[in-house]
Amino acid sequence: MLQVTDQSYGFMQIQFLVNSWITYCELKHRKTPLLDFIVPLAEALMASGKLNPQYQRHRGTGRPSKTSLSVGDHLPVTTKTQRRCGKCEQQKKESRTKIMCTMCNVPLCTDCFKPFHS
Ligand SMILES: [Zn+2]
Ligand SMILES: [Zn+2]
Repeated sequence: MLQVTDQSYGFMQIQFLVNSWITYCELKHRKTPLLDFIVPLAEALMASGKLNPQYQRHRGTGRPSKTSLSVGDHLPVTTKTQRRCGKCEQQKKESRTKIMCTMCNVPLCTDCFKPFHS
């Protein structure tokens, strides 16, 4: 059974971006820094609503608890590897999470994301 999760969906988008970048460099016969290529493209995609994290999270995963984790500029992202939650670790609790804060660069489980920032 093949199930497309939000995570693999995002991964496919990155693959798509990198592939387009390689094609672009080959076409132009010069090396454009990946970021210079991706940033305007990502902005265009975001404007069209395709790369909007909010939009992705609403794609019927049936778990609405994840929708309002963001605290100001601190956005939670789902990573590929599970790591120990930074806040749980301080409290000597063993808790692993795939979610981390993009701003603080700290892995945080869903229960700790908000308390960590308040
Ligand atoms: Zn935690
Ligand atoms: Zn943060």
